Amino acid sequence: MKVNRVCQSCGAVTPLDTASFRCACGGLYRLSYPKGRIDFAATAVSRDRSLYKYAAALPFDARKKPWSQAAMGEGGTPLLELHKSVYCKADYLMPTLSFKDRGASVLMTAARELGVKEAVADSSGNAGTAIAAYGARAGIACHIFASAATSKKKLEQIEAHGALLHLTEGSREDVARAAIAYVRAHGLFYASHIFNPLFYEGTKTYAYEVFEQLSFRMPDIFLLPAGNGTLVLGVYLALTELKSWGYICELPRIFAVQAEGCAPIARAFERGEAEVREVENTGTAAEGIAIAAPARGAEILKAVRETKGSVLAVTDAEILHARAALGLRGLYVETTSAASYAAYLRMEKDGGAEGRLIVLPLCGAGLKG
Ligand SMILES: [Zn+2]
Repeated sequence: MKVNRVCQSCGAVTPLDTASFRCACGGLYRLSYPKGRIDFAATAVSRDRSLYKYAAALPFDARKKPWSQAAMGEGGTPLLELHKSVYCKADYLMPTLSFKDRGASVLMTAARELGVKEAVADSSGNAGTAIAAYGARAGIACHIFASAATSKKKLEQIEAHGALLHLTEGSREDVARAAIAYVRAHGLFYASHIFNPLFYEGTKTYAYEVFEQLSFRMPDIFLLPAGNGTLVLGVYLALTELKSWGYICELPRIFAVQAEGCAPIARAFERGEAEVREVENTGTAAEGIAIAAPARGAEILKAVRETKGSVLAVTDAEILHARAALGLRGLYVETTSAASYAAYLRMEKDGGAEGRLIVLPLCGAGLKG
């Protein structure tokens, strides 16, 4: 299949390759390829419950099933009712225990098709774990850059998959800079869940599944955690596809959730700005969304505004309370993952949730940190 990358800044179109991860002009890529319309009536009753039942709208030749080497049954996670008309999607039931498996499976499958043997990624934890796991499945040696302060369980998991761990002191941004320097110095493939547009082709399946699980309709509101926005942008991509295929008329609202200690997108949203300015990370228990300068910040703001959504910043006290409340309902999730439920609890208190159908993800397992 012919897959192209389109620069979102200058419009340059180039074939998918392994050498560069952003356009010469500095712009970020989206993908362009012959995409089929998904037949949801058929996928809803498919015996395949994994995200590859949506192969018609993925950048692969479906007849060849190139994912069969890397896939581990990711996707098809349950939608559980938390309260009346409030559902959580249990993405902590993925093979590496987070929603990042959706993107990593698609990205590493494509990398294998491109002949990649060695890849580099940087992460605050879960994306690194997922890239390492799917890299191991696809026969791609992985270098994972992470902060030395990352929770120990996530680091152990990365090493268990045979990846070489490069621990870096400093901020999340310093970790990214170290990874990019390594990519350039060694001419390696950058399996970035932020820059590489293949990743969003995987995370978009989250919204396909919700559409199917709600009997072919969308919720009023998607409450989604946002650090680098890999789930926000994946869901937004799926919503635009569903609209173009005629399945929905209106886009459901995307509410992005940040942690108060590091909330650059919330600040830009409040100021009505189109770009996200770097903030100082003053610390938060939600390490997975503590991104001071999100590379796709402008795209996240655009997705939120186009859907008439909002950006909420929740405090650590709210997050820890939400995590404990979920635990008492039988759901043990990592601290970062409780941020979206914290946002729901605040909306409920303020009356903003009244009469709305809401879906939020629980996207990381409690044992991870
Ligand atoms: Zn460009």
